[in-house]
Amino acid sequence: MRKIIITLDGFSSCGKSTLARQLANELNYVFIDSGAMYRAITLYFLRHRIDWNHQAEVVNALKNISLDFQYNADTGKSDMFLNHEDVEVFIREMHVSDNVSAVSAVKEVREFAVAQQQLMGNKKGIVMDGRDIGTTVFPNAELKIFVMADPAIRVERRYKEMFEKNPTISIEEVKNNLESRDYIDSHREVSPLRKADDAIELDNSNLTREEQLEVVLKWANEVISKPH
Ligand code: C5P
Repeated sequence: MRKIIITLDGFSSCGKSTLARQLANELNYVFIDSGAMYRAITLYFLRHRIDWNHQAEVVNALKNISLDFQYNADTGKSDMFLNHEDVEVFIREMHVSDNVSAVSAVKEVREFAVAQQQLMGNKKGIVMDGRDIGTTVFPNAELKIFVMADPAIRVERRYKEMFEKNPTISIEEVKNNLESRDYIDSHREVSPLRKADDAIELDNSNLTREEQLEVVLKWANEVISKPH
């Protein structure tokens, strides 16, 4: 059976990663959470006090960053590794979320991440989620999905997820973070978040995880079985 590239883009907390992971499992494809890569770069910049508005500092810092995904048998998911350290927990913390959109708007950061993402798609059989995957990383992907959900539902979902890890978090904090990331992600100069012209829209506001998986799996199987 032929292997394809599937891209899922959309605003923060639309449930893209969960859907992309489930889809990859069903198809026996590799799942890549491109946001985790931007988060790991942000963590490095914060830890090393890199001024991301300073081009030479960014270029130098990127030379010292190696990113890698490794399977974690305990969770059944892949963890993000930054310079051989498992940073999966740290990259989800609020101080990273608060800065990741600014860091990922930097041209050199995007070039660094996009080049690695494109290599991962060499052999196809990949599901990647992010903001610019269907527009910039894999403009020729066979199936592009643009995921959407009602903003209030996104805040609620994100709040529940964050609250489990940090019960002191407020819904206002979560809402502000999502709004600010959405704004920066869709207004930045380099590959801003937008729906690719040939992407299919999926509004999952009123769908369960199982229902949305069923819809997307049907789309994927249609493309995979189509003669080319
Ligand atoms: O997907 P996630 O919400 O973890 O991504 C974190 C941030 O990384 C996004 O808000 C966005 O600023 C950035 N990002 C990006 N391009 C991608 C994936 C994520 O700019 N392909």
